[in-house]
Amino acid sequence: TPALPPQGGVLRPRRTSKRLDVGGVPVGGGAPISVQTMTTTVTADVDATLQQIAAVTAAGCDIVRIAVPSQDDADALPRIVARSPIPVIADIHFQPRYVFAAIDAGCAAVRVNPGNIKRFDDQVQRISQEAGAAGVPIRIGVNAGSLDPRLLAKHGGPTPDALAESALWECSLFEEHGFTDLKIAVKHHDPLVMIQANRILARACDYPLHLGVTEAGPAFQGSIKSATAMGILLAEGIGDTIRVSLSEPPVEQVKAGVHILASLGLRARRLEIVSCPGCGRLQVDIHTLAKRVEAAFDGFPHPLRVAVMGCVVNGPGESREADLGVSSGNGKGQIFVRGQVVATVPENQIVERLLEEALRITESDNAP
Ligand code: SF4
Repeated sequence: TPALPPQGGVLRPRRTSKRLDVGGVPVGGGAPISVQTMTTTVTADVDATLQQIAAVTAAGCDIVRIAVPSQDDADALPRIVARSPIPVIADIHFQPRYVFAAIDAGCAAVRVNPGNIKRFDDQVQRISQEAGAAGVPIRIGVNAGSLDPRLLAKHGGPTPDALAESALWECSLFEEHGFTDLKIAVKHHDPLVMIQANRILARACDYPLHLGVTEAGPAFQGSIKSATAMGILLAEGIGDTIRVSLSEPPVEQVKAGVHILASLGLRARRLEIVSCPGCGRLQVDIHTLAKRVEAAFDGFPHPLRVAVMGCVVNGPGESREADLGVSSGNGKGQIFVRGQVVATVPENQIVERLLEEALRITESDNAP
């Protein structure tokens, strides 16, 4: 496993939080920040759900959450948990009996929603006992859309204080029964509200915090909103696990989460493409070339930095600094490998040649 890039003291030290064991993945207490997503298949379709879990695992997902809205879904949990390569969290909104089914099925954790916990009132004691006996943490998930009307009225809307108070109130219901294996997610579509709510919680408790901007939107907008909010909090040492919510397949959400952590030096970098934006000196269609390189290297297993540069002004410099690079000009591409020019190829062979060289580097790096 490649070492984490040095953070050079840029980030504040991580907040001290309680450590939970989520099916073998530590969350909180200084553990590496994990990436999560949710499956979008019908949970009861076990094969499709497991296929999606395999895909998100390959993309770097550490923990997967699956919705359990029906008895069929609850019945499918044991088969999913038994074959999932990563811990499974059951996401339950209305039915306490599905919480018990999830615990029996061996789910790594259960997510419940405070907007609905009122319906669980008489069940909290039993949930606490059974989850405690099974070593299953509970995630308290607070969304602006499901806030208690009492808190909405008190705070005049789903403000950061209202979100934080709601989460802490729900925690207290479990604490009353001696259950404290809790983690908290307060989500809001507005990054500023989400940031502030998490800051309040970070001061008020030591439970691990799950960061997410909810309903962040399509890929472009959602990734920016998520990276902005999470980047600010993570730089302050706040956050133990993250989920990027995009209107995109779960694999794309995981990739975004992994990129956010890698950008901050909180996760080992995978393949990284350094490509120039282009300017009036461009001698190649850099946007198409960068996209073709990105597609060709999608899922490439070795952590390389690949430079894709549009002219000879900055091209050779950046290409030399990268593991692998191309500096384009006059219909040709000068190919660099670890600082040395190894070939000059026609433009239409650039991507192919980069991939060939990447495989060669991987082989030599992995040689005993
Ligand atoms: Fe412009 Fe060349 Fe820099 Fe690309 S590498 S931005 S084309 S100067």
